[in-house]
Amino acid sequence: MISFSSIKSRRLGKSLGINNIPTKKICSYSCIYCQIGITDEYRSTRAIFYDPSVIYEKVKKHLSILKEKDRPDYLTFVANGKPTLDINLGQSIKKLKAFNIPIAVITNASLLKSSSVREDLQLADWVSVKIDTADEKIWKQINRPYTKIYFDDYLSGLIQFSQEYKDKLATETMLVNGVMMLVRLYSKQQILFAG
Ligand code: SF4
Repeated sequence: MISFSSIKSRRLGKSLGINNIPTKKICSYSCIYCQIGITDEYRSTRAIFYDPSVIYEKVKKHLSILKEKDRPDYLTFVANGKPTLDINLGQSIKKLKAFNIPIAVITNASLLKSSSVREDLQLADWVSVKIDTADEKIWKQINRPYTKIYFDDYLSGLIQFSQEYKDKLATETMLVNGVMMLVRLYSKQQILFAG
């Protein structure tokens, strides 16, 4: 589903979710706490998924059936994986601006080293970046990055984007208790799935 129901959140108020990644979970991370489950396809490079006009039409249709009181405060890219892997993210944001509703993007920030990703995110009105840890070892244990994602690139991209971006920048951090136990459980789970 590309456009899904308005959800209320403390940070964004009423938000209409946009999933710009097809049903398979495609991400540069496979976080041990991910609600979507294990990453089906690891990626660090951008790709074409939906045409921006398809996303635009789905959102248009969704907005047309909402009552005025349910009109969202934000259109939020929160994908089945990582929204910035979509090479057309910037084009989609530009098209959606026609609705005069602020655009938000929730990202794990691992691709911010890429200038094209930073340029696309500049078009959004609100961006949330994931910062679970500033320790590389813990980052690998919790976020389980794709092997082609490097911690130094992640940190320098994050710093560069925070210096360039002029709109509302938020961070999100998952507090994980007993991480070593979770890592062991997760590894066991993956072995079971693999078996
Ligand atoms: S970055 Fe988000 S979608 Fe990707 S694995 Fe982590 S929690 Fe799941």
